[in-house]
Amino acid sequence: MDCIFCKIINKEIPSTIVWESDSVLAFKDVAPAAPVHVLVIPKKHITDITSITGEDKEIVWEIHEAIKKIASQLELGDGFRVVVNCGADGGQTVGHLHYHILGGRKLQWPPG
Ligand code: AMP
Repeated sequence: MDCIFCKIINKEIPSTIVWESDSVLAFKDVAPAAPVHVLVIPKKHITDITSITGEDKEIVWEIHEAIKKIASQLELGDGFRVVVNCGADGGQTVGHLHYHILGGRKLQWPPG
């Protein structure tokens, strides 16, 4: 499968990893939109948020646990944002489910 995030998981493409477990990987976004910009992904290839099934319950929970730990590790105690883009109109450019963690500055709302 020609998936850039699967290649990052398989270490075929370098990344700056900030968190790793058996089922979840988190690494710095190559084009940061905030002082802290980390992507949290399941190691299982799931295309997008609409592709999650009941079989993935554990993985979804682990992603949320990872987000909590990464936020603490990166000292985001003043707050942060988690974004999951889905589909073309949602701005998804990589077809492997990923959660953006954005923080390190006051973020604007609503997004454009
Ligand atoms: P999205 O637009 O929600 O699909 O987000 C994809 C994100 O992946 C973008 O923020 C990109 O900057 C990021 N990205 C693409 N390729 C890489 C890479 N090789 N390493 C780290 N982040 C990447």
